[in-house]
Amino acid sequence: MGFRLSNLLLEIKFKAKLFKTKVIIWDVDGTLWRNRILGEVLKREFIRIIALKRNVPLAAAAALLRKNEKGVSWSHAASELTNIPETKIIKLVEKRVNKALFLHRDEELLSFFNKLKKYRHFILTNATSKNTYKVLKKLGFPIKKWPYEKQLEFAPFEKIFTLDRIKKNKPHPDGFLKILEITHLPPSQHLVIGDSYYTDIRPAQMLNLKSWWIRKKLW
Ligand SMILES: [Mg+2]
Repeated sequence: MGFRLSNLLLEIKFKAKLFKTKVIIWDVDGTLWRNRILGEVLKREFIRIIALKRNVPLAAAAALLRKNEKGVSWSHAASELTNIPETKIIKLVEKRVNKALFLHRDEELLSFFNKLKKYRHFILTNATSKNTYKVLKKLGFPIKKWPYEKQLEFAPFEKIFTLDRIKKNKPHPDGFLKILEITHLPPSQHLVIGDSYYTDIRPAQMLNLKSWWIRKKLW
């Protein structure tokens, strides 16, 4: 196991023990994978939408995004800058970028999850089902119930909630509340793990879920 994940695993085990965690809620993009090039490709798509909608050159749109993204997500900033609903912007970007093309099977990640078997795992992502399916398959998570693959049944996740299932994107609380409804456990026994303070951590705190912020420097 490499430095990155072994470190993370130690942190998660420590936190989970401290908090008496029963359920871990995972973000996907930027959390289960880190890929600088894919990050840039996604960012460019947000910039392209801003440029088109505001009828400005790409460089100007990039500057606008840079100025407005502080403390929020690219999708939120792009939505504010264009008046296009955030879910619509995310779907536009998801349609144009096949993230799986940039990723590969991640043995380290899979063995990492093998060591977290005592917890119940959920995914809550702002990505679409179509892309999430491709990404999880590419990373190597085993499909639980062949031939129901289109239903996003990947081990070890009990349920996988995507933008088109929840209809509202994080930081909206709906997805988190849906998971609380399923587990019937107190909020404090859930640990939210994500790379975005705005999208993952802040809503978790507001709902009294525990959280662990995967900061960029860890990766
Ligand atoms: Mg993320």
